[in-house]
Amino acid sequence: MGHKEPRRSPSTDAGHAPRAAHVLPPLPYTTDALEPVISAETLSFHYGKHHKAYVDKLNELLPGTTLADLTLEALILRTAGQEEHVAIFNNAAQAWNHTFYWHCLTPNAADAIPATLSKRIKNSFGDLATLKKEFAKAAIEQFGSGWAWLVLDGSDLRITNTANADDPLPKHLRPLLTLDVWEHAYYLDYQNQRPDYVHAVLDKLINWEFAAANLA
Ligand code: FE
Repeated sequence: MGHKEPRRSPSTDAGHAPRAAHVLPPLPYTTDALEPVISAETLSFHYGKHHKAYVDKLNELLPGTTLADLTLEALILRTAGQEEHVAIFNNAAQAWNHTFYWHCLTPNAADAIPATLSKRIKNSFGDLATLKKEFAKAAIEQFGSGWAWLVLDGSDLRITNTANADDPLPKHLRPLLTLDVWEHAYYLDYQNQRPDYVHAVLDKLINWEFAAANLA
């Protein structure tokens, strides 16, 4: 026992183990699971083409840079606002944002909101209807491509929105929920009617359990 040297990869021998490439995580449901609110066609393009392209592009951009070993979250924090890293930031943030978004949706949306989250909603918004109204307003009024978010800001919940690839992580806000309002998220199903997409998702697909778990 103990006399056998563990196998070492060449990179370990060199004292530096490069991080594996970033991967496209599996969707937490099948592509038709969110119908009729989000069609299988939308979901297969959105996940299989758009989300995949961000991950693939990131893996093209990183090798040979000093950022190659960082996790997705670390990359976002490290490159936010830096002109020389804008492409890496955009693709890292979009990779992260989409994975987060998939988990914000569920075909089995519960009526009841976990007590820990429910209490915070009451404190910050008064009631769920007000939260949904503010969230919908942020999502609908986001000019052009972007995201609407429910975040934890200190001990308060609040709604915010971000443009393009931006997300709340560099602002030290903790995301609880998001909604993708890029046209690719809804155009096949709702064309230019973004409000219809926003209201349908808020009413039928929100994974409140996931939002509550993000409080911890
Ligand atoms: Fe998207």
